Amino acid sequence: MSVAIRLHQIEKRFANGVQALAPIDMDIEAGEFTTLLGPSGCGKSTLLRVIAGLLPPSRGSIDVEPGAEGGATAFVFQGATLMPWATVATNVRLPLELAGQPDDARVLASLEQVGLAEFQHAYPRELSGGMQMRVSIARALVTRPRLLLMDEPFGALDEITRQRLDTELRALWQRERLTVLFVTHSIHEAVFLSNRVVVMSARPGRLLGEESIDPALPRDDDFRLTTGFARHARRLSDLLAQGAPEHAR
Ligand code: ADP
Repeated sequence: MSVAIRLHQIEKRFANGVQALAPIDMDIEAGEFTTLLGPSGCGKSTLLRVIAGLLPPSRGSIDVEPGAEGGATAFVFQGATLMPWATVATNVRLPLELAGQPDDARVLASLEQVGLAEFQHAYPRELSGGMQMRVSIARALVTRPRLLLMDEPFGALDEITRQRLDTELRALWQRERLTVLFVTHSIHEAVFLSNRVVVMSARPGRLLGEESIDPALPRDDDFRLTTGFARHARRLSDLLAQGAPEHAR
């Protein structure tokens, strides 16, 4: 395994004095599905934004290892954030247009990756919430990013749709050999999706520990019912409890 991104002593304090991140050291391995798990407000989004270069850290550095070149990072937010007046294909093409490299074959290939090629001429309002999120993922993949950053992408969806998209995302990761850094506060979602779950404490976010989940385990609905799944969830729950503020223990 090679390291794609190395975080060294990353800290973030906002202008209003809120310290969101305590010093964080972390490696993200190329080709892995890594999840940041932590309570709401612990700094997960902040860390993702720092890694994406959307927010400068107050201290520390981020190294992109040589050999991990290729596209930049791509971000998937909680909402699909599609342009309602534009077709699915036009939405997915946007990052290529912005880069001055329109490529319709690439747009179609990206839609095929999420199983939506036949909806390329549809408008967002004609699609379900889950399908809109898949378009959002296709738009993120269209530039062939080195690293896909996902900030609670399925948090606004109903539980059944969320589980279906988790299954599809895991299959997509496996098929396309993506490097994903995923953020969630759901223990079950973290166990289902990841090869590695990194647990963050309550604010200021620091790393409490991590849990590896055998990548060879089949990630289908039956996986959620296994004792192995329950054991991972229990260990993550214990780690989270260690990082809860005193009054919440
Ligand atoms: P999470 O994603 O884990 O829910 P966030 O990274 O969104 O947490 O936020 C971490 C903490 O930083 C929260 O207390 C939040 O209110 C605070 N915060 C986030 N953005 C800003 C900002 N721009 N200015 C001040 N405080 C912020």
